[in-house]
Amino acid sequence: MSSDQNCIFCKIVCGEAPSEILFQNDEIIVFKDIKPASKHHYLVVPKNHIINVNHLVTKEDKLLVERLIEIGKKVLEENGGTIEDARLGFHLPPFNSINHLHLHVISPMSEMSFFSRLIFKPNTWWFQLRDVMCEA
Ligand SMILES: [Zn+2]
Ligand SMILES: [Zn+2]
Repeated sequence: MSSDQNCIFCKIVCGEAPSEILFQNDEIIVFKDIKPASKHHYLVVPKNHIINVNHLVTKEDKLLVERLIEIGKKVLEENGGTIEDARLGFHLPPFNSINHLHLHVISPMSEMSFFSRLIFKPNTWWFQLRDVMCEA
């Protein structure tokens, strides 16, 4: 498993940086976004330091993305959010603020601010839903 000493998400994975962790297993960790765009805003992150969606190439990578989405939905429901009113997606480079792959799970969409709606607008060239990015 690769790790980057300067990466904030890798630090969270090793417990070196504080975060509100909601779920973790050997492969994936879920924690709250420090700047939530709505009531629920979680980041679903592979523990392995994968830089961004452009680095997802193999069939195994695509299965990892499926698991990120599955776990993101599960954690959202466990915390009282609803999938129907949620937005899931990845920021595309160079619009990924952190160079460690992370899936945003945001709900409810109806409580998102105008600015957040813009940043997390689906199917734009800066924020892609998984159907599109899975072609990578
Ligand atoms: Zn990292
Ligand atoms: Zn992001």
